[in-house]
Amino acid sequence: MSKPCRRCLLKDISLEDYERLIRDGLDALPKEDLAEDTISSGRLQICKECEKLNQGTCLACGCYVEIRASLKKGKCPYGKW
Ligand code: SF4
Repeated sequence: MSKPCRRCLLKDISLEDYERLIRDGLDALPKEDLAEDTISSGRLQICKECEKLNQGTCLACGCYVEIRASLKKGKCPYGKW
């Protein structure tokens, strides 16, 4: 499988490549910077019920929520978590 282009729009990559992009992003983070799984999954549960969530990104800040929620220092721009 080819590596997704870093300059492509999401509409130009497949769902499979998009998921890999997120996974690779998570894998690249220093382990010491990661929150515990229970914390990140609790955060993502809040995101899933938030009107700002749009296809894995936060409309308030533009981040990929799965990456932001995985960081110890990650914060919701609306203070929801
Ligand atoms: S980070 Fe905050 S504002 Fe953004 S989708 Fe999650 S809960 Fe909503």
